[in-house]
Parts: sequence; C-alpha cells; structure tokens
Amino acid sequence: MTKTHNDPPQFCPAQTIGILGGGQLGRMSALAAARLGIKTHILTPESDSPASYVSAKTIVADYSDKAALREFAKSVDVISYEFENIPVETVQYLKRLKPVYPDDYLLEIAQHRWHEKQFLNNIGIPTAKWAKACSAEQVHATLEEWGVTTCILKTARFGYDGKGQVKISRKEEIDPGFALLKSDEVIIESLVPFECEISVIVARDLFGKTDCYDVVLNKHKNHILSETIAPAPLAPTILTKAKNLGKKLADEVGLVGVLALELFVTKDGKILANEIAPRTHNSGHWTIDACAVSQFENHVRTISGLPVGPTKRHSDANMINLIGDDIALVDKYIGKPNACIHLYGKPEIRTGRKMGHITLLK
Ligand code: AMP
Repeated sequence: MTKTHNDPPQFCPAQTIGILGGGQLGRMSALAAARLGIKTHILTPESDSPASYVSAKTIVADYSDKAALREFAKSVDVISYEFENIPVETVQYLKRLKPVYPDDYLLEIAQHRWHEKQFLNNIGIPTAKWAKACSAEQVHATLEEWGVTTCILKTARFGYDGKGQVKISRKEEIDPGFALLKSDEVIIESLVPFECEISVIVARDLFGKTDCYDVVLNKHKNHILSETIAPAPLAPTILTKAKNLGKKLADEVGLVGVLALELFVTKDGKILANEIAPRTHNSGHWTIDACAVSQFENHVRTISGLPVGPTKRHSDANMINLIGDDIALVDKYIGKPNACIHLYGKPEIRTGRKMGHITLLK
C-alpha cells in the first residue's frame, strides 16, 4: 500500500539520527530531537564540538574515513548534515548504507555557485546576472560585454559569510581581485542594488508535503548575519512570491529535510535568489521560540519519516546574533522577560565566531 500524507508512520521514540558536522546547527537539531525522544549521533572531524555536548554519541573522524563512516551509519537509522561543505562522496558512500537527507543531488547544487545559479535559472528562479570565469582575462571580457565596470567575484566553492568574495568597482581592481580569490573557478555576479535581504525556510517531508516559515528580513555586519526580523515588514505580495520560490525549489529538488533560500529584494519589488543553504539556517533560529515547531524540529521530523509540522508563527520576533564579543550582550538581556538566550557552548571567543543568539519575542 502506498503511504500518503494522511497515513503518517507510527512515531518511533527509539529512532537515532546521525548528523555530519558538529556545529551549532547540529547542536540545535540534536536538542530538538531529544525533545521528541530521538537520539543523535554526530560525526565530525573536530573534538569538543558544540553538537557533541548534547548528543548521545560523537565519532571524531575525517569525512573520508570509511571505517568511521561505516561505524557511524551502523549506529543510526537515518543520516543528515548540518553544513554544505561535507564532501559529496561522503554522502554518496553513506547513502549506500543508510538513507541520507537531503540527498547528494541538492548538496552538489548548493556546493558550487555555477551549478546553483544554473539550476535556479533552469527552474525559473531569477538571480543576479552571472557568468563563469576561470581567469582574470575572462572577467575583463565579461564586464566589457556587459558594459559595466562593477561586479562581485566569488569563488565557486567554499564561500560563506562573505569569505571568498571580492567587490570590483574599477577595471584596475579585476586582476588583484581575481588573484585574491586564489581559485580558478569563479563566478562573476552583477552588483544587485538591493533594498533589503530576505530569506525563506522550507521544510518538506517524505510524503512530498511542503511548508514554509514566515519570510524574514536579514541584516548583516561584515557580511555576517547580525539580525533577523520575523516576519519581514514587506508587502504581502513580496512575501507570497518569496514563499512560492522556496516551495518551488524544495519541490524541484525533491527535498526531504529543511532548506533556506536567501533572496534580494530590489527597489522595484523584484526578487532575486542569492544562495541556497541545504540545511537549517541562521535566519531561522527565531523559530525555536516563536513557533510551536522550530526549523530544527522540522529538520528532525522530516528526515525521521514524520510529517512536516506546522510552521505557523505564534509571536513576532527579532533574532540577534552574538558574534565574537557580542556575547557580552547577554548581561543586558538576561533579566528581560521576552529574551530567549541561546549559547552554543564554544569555549573560546573569536572575532567573527557565532557564539550564540538571542530571540526577543514581541
Ligand atoms: P554570499 O556569500 O553570496 O551569501 O554573499 C554575502 C553577502 O554579500 C550577501 O548577503 C550580500 O549582502 C552581498 N552580496 C552577495 N552577492 C551580491 C550581489 N550580486 N550584489 C550585491 N550584493 C551581494
């Protein structure tokens, strides 16, 4: 008999999920799993990782260590990951042993900006104008063809929080800018004169049911997310458009799990996709405190074979990221009745390091 969404599986409290990566996203998924009586095992190359402190078991091993991957797979029912730079080969190896969600198809798209932009455009999701470049000469030629002197250059792989990208304002900056990236797989993007940055988080279950959290407005400092406002104070038409793009993407990739789509909103109300995160996302941390079912619980639910849970917001919220020394802000908020404080247990404060976040309920 075919399972449908109306015929949900029996809840299985003994289920164990495996997460590749030991950062704060894994930690918050493990906490959500624990609330559902589900155990979490972590595989990460780092010892003392934030997720390891709240998980039943941690295997400290490289992602290419096949013996460790086999041991990990044997100990869990299903596997997921908490960041997008897990080698695709690791996921492909593991999926022969246990189901891995989201699958390697989405991971491969999200890991490479050429594939990502091409995929988005192929399914009708608009992006900034872009082109591939393997040399500074190609950048010169493309900008000449476009008739502009400004653009953003980004490494095709391993860029995050503004790392691996350089803004070009003048022709003379192309050669040093390209050299700075130390990569021969680069994407040239036209500079989007955006009004604001928003994101949408989508959860999709094994039965093909998709649900979206409210679209949020994101503010950055030094390219790192500093504040999220939920819901985004924008026109309903923009919010609906953004949700529809997120749902379209999730359906097109056959998502099982949670993903985030980062978007630019232009002055004339256009929405352009910037980036896909094939995982839970920093701009969804507010959902822990402002929704009955958070992005992390929906991550756990959907990869465990449970139906996607309601994404409805019960409170408006502002999420403040505690980056590096911002951790001192805890003193300011600790006595406030609407402040939900989350610390990731990272022992060392470093510049640019995400130490925790505070959700202010409104
Ligand atoms: P990314 O690493 O692609 O998420 O980019 C980091 C940040 O750089 C974004 O959040 C934007 O603020 C900015 N940015 C990235 N791409 C563009 C673009 N094509 N035009 C204008 N700003 C951009």
